[in-house]
Order: sequence, then structure tokens, then C-alpha cells
Amino acid sequence: MTHKIADVNVFYVSTSDCAGVGDSTLRYDKACMAVVEIRTDSGLSGYGITIKDEIAGLIRNTIKPILMGKDPVNTEDIWQEMFLNIRGSGRKGLSLVAISVVDIALWDLKGKILGLPVHRLLGGGKRFIPTYASGGWTSYTLDELLAEMKSFVDLGYSTIKMKVGVELGRNIKEDSRRVHAVRDMVGPDIDIIIDANNVWDSGTAVRFAEMVRDCDIAAFEEPVCADDIPGLGRIRSSINIPVATGEHEYTKYGMRDLLAGKAVDIVQLDATKAGGITEMVKVSAMCQAWNLLFAPHCFEIVHMHLLSAAPNAFKLEKLFLFNGIMRRCIKNYPEPVNGILEIPDLPGMGLEFDMEWIMQNNELK
Ligand SMILES: [Mg+2]
Repeated sequence: MTHKIADVNVFYVSTSDCAGVGDSTLRYDKACMAVVEIRTDSGLSGYGITIKDEIAGLIRNTIKPILMGKDPVNTEDIWQEMFLNIRGSGRKGLSLVAISVVDIALWDLKGKILGLPVHRLLGGGKRFIPTYASGGWTSYTLDELLAEMKSFVDLGYSTIKMKVGVELGRNIKEDSRRVHAVRDMVGPDIDIIIDANNVWDSGTAVRFAEMVRDCDIAAFEEPVCADDIPGLGRIRSSINIPVATGEHEYTKYGMRDLLAGKAVDIVQLDATKAGGITEMVKVSAMCQAWNLLFAPHCFEIVHMHLLSAAPNAFKLEKLFLFNGIMRRCIKNYPEPVNGILEIPDLPGMGLEFDMEWIMQNNELK
């Protein structure tokens, strides 16, 4: 039986449960999700998820006409056609977010058509995926930070992530005190990741790594601007902490540039931005070829499938800030137990979106 794409819809919803939270370079006023639904003439629906509402125009005007009438199983062919058609609108940024969420919806459909979960389509048999607990915002007081980190450990996580770069990155002595306080509290057996969210220059980052040398840091994430690939290369060759980056990088070409710059130890490209499942399979292979760890940013409910099949897998990021909106959007929202995420045993992406709530609360015209 053949299946043809018959309709494409975009929805956008938000909740206010992260109002006031911030990292070194951004403040948040709400948690948002964009959901794309692709329907076939055979009555199936596939769903993708990402975070930007601005993609709606690109999907409706540029991508939907490409998709109509196509067989959704042909993800590689469709990806290439989408990528060629957005060439003038930007081969990074929002154009790629639009391609990504559509590609994820196509893989959801492919799984439903073939009757297999996506991780099995990718060849991965693992259904239990390790995650780390991510939070520790710079907007928190020290007491709030310590309370959250303790709550993560109490939930059974052995790896936790906190932000650094308080006061817009201008008080590294306070950052050092916060990292030391967390290490003192959790003891030696918990892995700590620090995330500077692009705030520093490479010299400051190298200095900061030295200030927390005695804290046994498992990874130093985005110490400088994501585009400062020479700076990342300098940091990586200067410090004894693995450098993590990639959440603001796009496609295999962005991955190639990180590799050429010797800029990364832990690769964090994100399927909901960097090109979907189709592109991230290639990024994962590049990690294997360079013997680097693969740890896609956030959206563990998408990335669990990739990590199931990734030989160089690290852990997935469980971002606690998204719990509220995810629990609203996804009826069977899979949540880790003792840090281990179980992939739902369902065809496709394995997620049951609450389309009634999403349509009722849709903010797009
Ligand atoms: Mg980050």
C-alpha cells in the first residue's frame, strides 16, 4: 500500500511555567512548543516537535507544497528537496528548524507505516537510555541552585548540569564559588556539567576552567560564542575538561566545521534544529568516525531513538524546565526513572500528542 501526504498543519502552544528563569545570556518568559502534523491520504498522522513559532510561514509556504502527494517513507529524498528549496532563506537557523520538525514528523509516519519504533528503523535495539538532569540556572540564588541540584541527585541522577556566567558573565569568582558549593554538596561520585551558554571569550573560559580544576568537571559546555570555533579549539587544547558544544550548529556541514576546528569533545547538535533525524544519523556517524561523544541537546523524547543506535552515545539532557509544557502536549510523556529513560514501545516516535489541548490552545492564526 502506498501512502501520500495529504495535509500539513502547524500549531504553537506555550505555558508560563519558566517565567523569570535565565542563563548567562537569555531570560525566558514562557515555555513554548511548535508541533507539526503531517496527514496521509491513508488516514495516518505523523508529529514533530520543536520550539519556534516563526517556522510556520516557511512550512506553510515553502515546505508544504514540496510535501503534498509525496510518499512520507522517502525521508532522504524529501530532505534533499527541502534543503535545496530553502537555499535562499538560510541554510542555518529557522529554515533548518522548519526542515527539522517536518523531518521528525516524517520519521514518525515512516514508523507508523512500517509498524516499528524509530529506534528500530535506525537499527538500535536499546530501549533504556541514560539521561542527565539539567537546570541550575544563573537566575537562581545559591540556595535555590543547591536545592535543585540536591533534588536531581535525590531523583537518582548520577550526572547533573548547572549554568555558569552569573551577572551576564561578569563575575567568574561567584561562578567558581557556586560550582565549588555544588561539588561540596554532592560529593565526589556525581558528574557535574557546567554550561556557560556562549557568554565568555576563550581567555576567560580557560581561566575559569583553571579556577574549577579541583571540582572534577565532566564537561564545559558552550564556554564561548557558538560561532567562535577557533576559540573553542583554543579552549579544548588548553584545559583538562571535555568541551561540549553544538546546540547552535546546523547540519552535517556545521558538524564538519566543528571537526575541522578541533573544537569539540561532546557533540550536542539537536535534531529539532539541526536537520531532523535524517541529518542527525549522519552527525552521529561523524562522531563515531572522530571518536567523539554524541549527546544531542535537550528534547530527549526525540533523541532517545538516535542514542539507541549511536555507538558513541553519552547521555541525553533531561531539561526540567520543559516538564510543564511537555506534560501538557504529550499524553504519554516518557520521564526518566533513576536517570534512565524508557523508549515507549510504539511505532514511530512513540509519542501520543494531546491534539485536542494543542488545537484548543494554538496561538497561531
Ligand atoms: Mg546548553
